[in-house]
Amino acid sequence: MAVKTVTILGSTGSIGVSTVDLLAAAPERYRVLALVGNSNGQRLAEQARLLNAEWAVCADPAQHGALTEMLAGTAIRVACGPQAVLDAARLGADWTMAAITGVAGLAPTLAAAEAGRIVALANKEALVSAGDVMLRAVSAAGATLLPVDSEHNAIFQAKAGNPERSVEKITLTASGGPFRLASREEMAAAGPEAALRHPVWSMGAKITIDSATLFNKGLEVIEAARLFGLRSAQIDVLVHPQSIVHGMVHFSDGSILAQLGAPDMRIPIAHTLGWPERLTTHAPRLDLAVAGKLEFLPPDEEKFPALRLARHALQEGGGSPTILNAANEVAVASFLRRRIGFLDIASVVESVLERMGRRSADRLDDVLALDDEARRCAGALEAQRAA
Ligand code: NAD
Ligand code: MG
Repeated sequence: MAVKTVTILGSTGSIGVSTVDLLAAAPERYRVLALVGNSNGQRLAEQARLLNAEWAVCADPAQHGALTEMLAGTAIRVACGPQAVLDAARLGADWTMAAITGVAGLAPTLAAAEAGRIVALANKEALVSAGDVMLRAVSAAGATLLPVDSEHNAIFQAKAGNPERSVEKITLTASGGPFRLASREEMAAAGPEAALRHPVWSMGAKITIDSATLFNKGLEVIEAARLFGLRSAQIDVLVHPQSIVHGMVHFSDGSILAQLGAPDMRIPIAHTLGWPERLTTHAPRLDLAVAGKLEFLPPDEEKFPALRLARHALQEGGGSPTILNAANEVAVASFLRRRIGFLDIASVVESVLERMGRRSADRLDDVLALDDEARRCAGALEAQRAA
């Protein structure tokens, strides 16, 4: 098998660490061009040494001195700052993991797509916020976008080999998060510790809060619409607390194909890393006899307004998903800093959508300007609630 060149955008995060683990298990198969992080220079240096990366890159310029020192005596080159991140994304790796959180990952993910190879997409916010821009860039460059998000990876796998027109609808599953059984009063009083206690998955802070509000599933409905060309009505959501069935495709003949696996992100990441082949991983194997029972329930959209808001944004189209995503990023950051309460997250997003109304965002500049405006609007509302 030919050696594959690889770059990880967001290598120090949860998805990044799982990706590094897969690469480290078969170092002879990969040549790591660049590992990109934000401010955890120590972890980045350890990863770069482990994988003998060509470049170790931090978005935070303040890391330059420490990173250079930690990598002294190696051939690993160091670069820092936002331009260095874009340069790393443009090195043209055969396979790039896009796992920077939020719209911060948009420009680097686009830069990787423009290089025309495989982009394994974990960064759902970029696709939600700038769907058309990203899909146009991917198709213009002849790049391949492979979904890493476990539900979308499941749909991708279950759809493979079937005619597009035979897909009636899909189902994305949701664990339900830590507040699945909580009362509204308990949710109103919950602080970051409670919201960060995810029952199944261990992930970065932003997506863990999104899982508690169900904005994660809302973003995923929009992500699925973009990736698979489906309407909101063709994308069902089912709460499935065991997180074993990740997604299902419903076909025109009445068949349903599902993808199952232990809740471990190394499995979908490995699928994209090996694609179109299959790798062998050390990820845990699923034992259905141990799991015993699989439950599926409809989501409670009264208790979790995020799903309704995301579907509304998807149906409105244009810049509405950009606004939804930006407002949510601001609200989650504010909640994590204990400025607003848990239930304020959805109410800030709803108010920003109402205030800003229907907008268009066709080009990257429009998306970035709208993202910025929505952040300012959310910031003002967040400050009112925090006061
Ligand atoms: P995380 O917070 O653990 O990691 C984020 C990574 O991005 C870190 O390496 C951080 O240093 C880097 N980063 C942040 N801002 C940056 C910037 N401005 N420039 C360069 N790098 C920057 O997050 P995560 O849980 O790994 O999630 C990453 C993405 O994958 C998110 O979009 C998330 O929605 C998606 N995702 C994650 C999981 C999961 O299991 N963790 C599952 C599905 C999808
Ligand atoms: Mg997911």
